[in-house]
Amino acid sequence: MVSAVPEKAPNWIDGAERPAASGHWFEKRDPTNGRVLLRAARSERGDVEAAVAAALRAQPAWGATPAVARGLVLLEIVKAMQAAREEIAAAVAAETGKSRKDAAVETAGAIALGLFYASEGQRLYGRTTTSAVAHRRALTVRKPIGIAGLIIAANTPIANVAWKAFPALVCGNAAVLKAAEDAPATAWLFGRIAHAAVLPGGVLDIVQGFGAEAGAPLVAHRDIGVVSFTGSTEVGRGIQRIAGERLARVSLELGGKNPFVVADDADLDFALRWALLSAFSNAGQRCASASRVIVFDSVYDSFRARFVEAARHLRVGPEDGDDLGPVINEEQLRSLLAAVAEARSQGGRVLAGGERCTDPARRDGYYMQPAIIEGIDPDADLSCRELFGPIAFLYRARGFDDALALANRSPYGLTACIHTRSVDRAWNFAERVRAGVAIVNAGTFGSEPHMPFGGVGLSGNGTREPGTEALDVYSELQDVYFNVQPEKV
Ligand code: NAD
Repeated sequence: MVSAVPEKAPNWIDGAERPAASGHWFEKRDPTNGRVLLRAARSERGDVEAAVAAALRAQPAWGATPAVARGLVLLEIVKAMQAAREEIAAAVAAETGKSRKDAAVETAGAIALGLFYASEGQRLYGRTTTSAVAHRRALTVRKPIGIAGLIIAANTPIANVAWKAFPALVCGNAAVLKAAEDAPATAWLFGRIAHAAVLPGGVLDIVQGFGAEAGAPLVAHRDIGVVSFTGSTEVGRGIQRIAGERLARVSLELGGKNPFVVADDADLDFALRWALLSAFSNAGQRCASASRVIVFDSVYDSFRARFVEAARHLRVGPEDGDDLGPVINEEQLRSLLAAVAEARSQGGRVLAGGERCTDPARRDGYYMQPAIIEGIDPDADLSCRELFGPIAFLYRARGFDDALALANRSPYGLTACIHTRSVDRAWNFAERVRAGVAIVNAGTFGSEPHMPFGGVGLSGNGTREPGTEALDVYSELQDVYFNVQPEKV
């Protein structure tokens, strides 16, 4: 068994480990038992400035390295991640409380994403086109922006690091990553692996700390040319405002309140399996989690009975045989329990779960029985607000149009799924649903490394990551007009 996390997770600045200049550390707790798991550097403005300064020194050489060669450096990191995959998965599992099996799947996804972007070094395509002017060639090339400021959530720690770092780096930027305060060890470990592989010092600097103390100075830093953020809509809005002030580019991957529609012609057992995974896997802490389950009237009672029965039998715990683990911290658990109480006070019926697990093995952890709630108005705040935990609301739909209208009655628009056997309904749903990702007959998942992920409305600001589209986030396009004088040949 490899040891999961270090006792302390410092910053990575200029290729070296550094404590916060203040010497302060903060505690990261183990979600499975509430005990202190490790301490991480409590960074502040000065640490961020040191990280940005290191990135500024490193970027010119990195940006001048041919993209193919940058890709090969990333490939070395990918290979090192592959070799360390058990250690990475152990850190992910320790910090989140998810099972080793789930952590291993997440790690494999992060590696696959790294591989995609390593190869993008060979394909950093621009366009060549014609011109209205004789003897002129018109083309576009991609150039680095400079320094990328990357800020991430803790829900899928290694995936979130990879999702930002690889595309930012392959485009020739140096980057400063503000790690999630609930997953400091995974980010630190990525830094160790990347530097031990081949990454030159300063190209990727990693700063630990809290949002207000370490994230905010990064967003406000005048030398950060692009801010890419994965987190809540509320924080994203503030980031857009602050970075927008100096017209820095901003990419926001925000929350969701994702609809999962079960039509009357769906294979109910199949739909049930996906509904459970969509609503409760990763303890519901997924931007894409299905928190609004909309079921056609004629199959509502039958689906509800199966859904509730199955949810009651889900195993909540940290082992591979469990279906979901704890939520990330005590505060998040409390806010989820408060949402269940709010639902009750509004006449909502809690059909399953909704309580903290109080048995001796789990009572000190942040475990909650997955909840299914019906009877909440689709326009109520609870139906519109992202809760980010294992809570699903059930809604009854009169038919296709009603289900679609309910699906679209949300300020968010990240993912949306329908279960139906009708190709007409499926296509119509994908065409008319307000979501960045539409899924037919599976779950509200959807971020393959080569595909652009993102949403509409409060789910983002229109950018897409990952996929080739993320290159638009992290590079500047330059037009080049090349003029030839044939008479001079
Ligand atoms: P959060 O917004 O509270 O924090 C996210 C990150 O932002 C953390 O690193 C935090 O330290 C930092 N931060 C907080 N305040 C900041 C500030 N003022 N300035 C700069 N940085 C600041 O979100 P969370 O609760 O950690 O994560 C859950 C959220 O992330 C959910 O809304 C979820 O939907 C979203 N999410 C979105 C995606 C996506 O791809 N769309 C993926 C995963 C998670």
